[in-house]
Amino acid sequence: MKVLKFGGTSVGSPENMQAVISLITDGQKKIVVLSAMSGTTNSLVEISNYLQKKNKVTASVLIGELEAKYLKVVDELFKEDENKSKGLEIIKTSFDLMRSLASKDFSQVTENTILAQGELISTQLVALSMIENGYSAKLLPALDFMRIDKDKSADLTNIKKLIKPVIEKAGDADYYITQGFICLNFDGEIDNLQRGGSDYTASLVGAAINSEEIQIWTDIDGFHNNDPRFVENTKKIDQLSFTEAAELAYFGAKILHPQTVLPARVHNIPVRLKNTMNPSDGGTLITSESDGSGIKAVAAKDGITAIKIRSGRMLMAYGFLKNVFSVFEKYKTPIDMISTSEVAVSLTIDNTKYLNEIREELEVFGNVDVDPDMSIVCIVGDIISEEKGFASKVFKALDGIPIRMISYGGSRYNISVLVPTEHKKVTLQALSDKVLK
Ligand code: ASP
Repeated sequence: MKVLKFGGTSVGSPENMQAVISLITDGQKKIVVLSAMSGTTNSLVEISNYLQKKNKVTASVLIGELEAKYLKVVDELFKEDENKSKGLEIIKTSFDLMRSLASKDFSQVTENTILAQGELISTQLVALSMIENGYSAKLLPALDFMRIDKDKSADLTNIKKLIKPVIEKAGDADYYITQGFICLNFDGEIDNLQRGGSDYTASLVGAAINSEEIQIWTDIDGFHNNDPRFVENTKKIDQLSFTEAAELAYFGAKILHPQTVLPARVHNIPVRLKNTMNPSDGGTLITSESDGSGIKAVAAKDGITAIKIRSGRMLMAYGFLKNVFSVFEKYKTPIDMISTSEVAVSLTIDNTKYLNEIREELEVFGNVDVDPDMSIVCIVGDIISEEKGFASKVFKALDGIPIRMISYGGSRYNISVLVPTEHKKVTLQALSDKVLK
């Protein structure tokens, strides 16, 4: 059974929902993972932020506005009065719940419950509309099988165990619909897989049922060899290896949630990126094989902060890096890039929540410089298969661009450079003109 995921834009209006229904109803049994309608999760985050700040008045205005939007959706989506009433009941249940949460004390569970309503509504509406159109569709409640562990990582062992009985309980159907993004945590509370996490849901579901293919449907035709928002004439990539796709997803190519590749790679399940606007196109296929054709793509990730620690104590000493890293471990802050000399180490982070605390603790080891507003530009491909002189080709292309850090050799699939974000566009263009061609 294939697993197909459709994002917020794909279910962003009653017409788009109908288009998704036409796409999936080809007679082949499948599990369909849906996001919330586009814009909904952002609105829910806003509502929850106002509640956290005890601004119940603004929160209830926003709840009312969002509800009005959904009442219109229900009216347009369903033909029969009976289904319109069922649709209104779905909306009422979610918005009554939100209003009752708004009247109580705010907690993390309040926030997570509010954030979950987008996916809970979109899936119920689409499933009901499918039934109205005569299809055999059943809902698989994600909260009955999606689990994360104590460290908030996906608990695939449990997901595998739980999903089978959930499918059996739902009963036979051609199309199973489930919510992306939402899950229960270790304490049995409602939680989520972080923003954009529906891709990850699809991959976890695919791994859990040992799916033949996981398809991620968006509104572009797959991974491109450069960022189409900044560089003209980018080309779609037909095939990537799991590693190449993971590097690209992690380093900025917004089309795929970075964690999606992992469960698919472990279970060797092909992932295909497809375009709802152009369904007959093959999209980008991600498998265990690299087609060996050298450099595949360039991508950039913004919002990076570089931290440099300089210390005479590092010279010929051991244990220095361990001490530095333990500070990041303490604040659960992942490090992206790292580069060292005998007397200094530079590294980058994208989560600056604990930057002040980290900086303070690092100052014990030496002088600390912090540079915000940086971008990692990464060049992805099977670099070993490129002819000699590849690194010089990259650095010639970057002539005149102020590079703050370079990382090469960590993986044969990636060379990364750190540049101030204001120089990102010219960096992408230069690599496009001189390296990708
Ligand atoms: N609805 C969630 C978000 O907007 C999850 C997703 O769409 O993937 O982040």
